[in-house]
Amino acid sequence: MFVGHFGIAFAAKRAAPRTSLATLFAATAFLDILWPVLVLTGIEKVRIEPGITAWAPLDFVSYPWSHSAAMALLWSGIFGWVVLALSRDRGAGLACGALVFSHWILDFVSHRPDLPLWPRGPVVGLGLWYSVPATLVIEGAIFTAGIWIYASATQARDRVGRWSLVALVVLLTAAYLSDLWSPPPPSEAVVAWTGVAAVIILLPWAAWIDRHRAAAVPRLAAG
Ligand SMILES: [Zn+2]
Repeated sequence: MFVGHFGIAFAAKRAAPRTSLATLFAATAFLDILWPVLVLTGIEKVRIEPGITAWAPLDFVSYPWSHSAAMALLWSGIFGWVVLALSRDRGAGLACGALVFSHWILDFVSHRPDLPLWPRGPVVGLGLWYSVPATLVIEGAIFTAGIWIYASATQARDRVGRWSLVALVVLLTAAYLSDLWSPPPPSEAVVAWTGVAAVIILLPWAAWIDRHRAAAVPRLAAG
């Protein structure tokens, strides 16, 4: 899954209003932040395999440290604890920890059975990616609902607060839909470096949006 993860992070702003959208993005994407680094260092393996699912031409040969359920649980505990220690905000720590693990749940729904329960353990996956229409409907619904929740839980302080959010949503949507007609990536390294580039672009962007938005003030009833 791709934009679905960001939908969950947007929605989490309601549960953790004082946490920057950038931290929420880092939490929801944390397993996919680790993964390209582990692929580039040869610790985990992916292979380009057009047609392996209808959606993603990737065979996740081995990714026990970034994507097994047991490691996801450990990463979520560590991430949540670090956020709690830095912010002294229990709600923020809990929300970020849950976000890290939400990544595994969404990947479990979308991947074919290739996600290990623990390193060298049995592999699972519900295979939403076997159907392009089902992927679009379910992931699109999560993404749209998340944006709606974020946009109603916060309000723009200025024009930047409005348009930086609109631009990010357009970029994520375009990047997501371009998967439908773009050819398979030329190499595994390109896949990994694309992941690294996404982190470098999206986290500062999310921080920038969040600095220009404030918690929404409930509207006074007319009269
Ligand atoms: Zn993932």
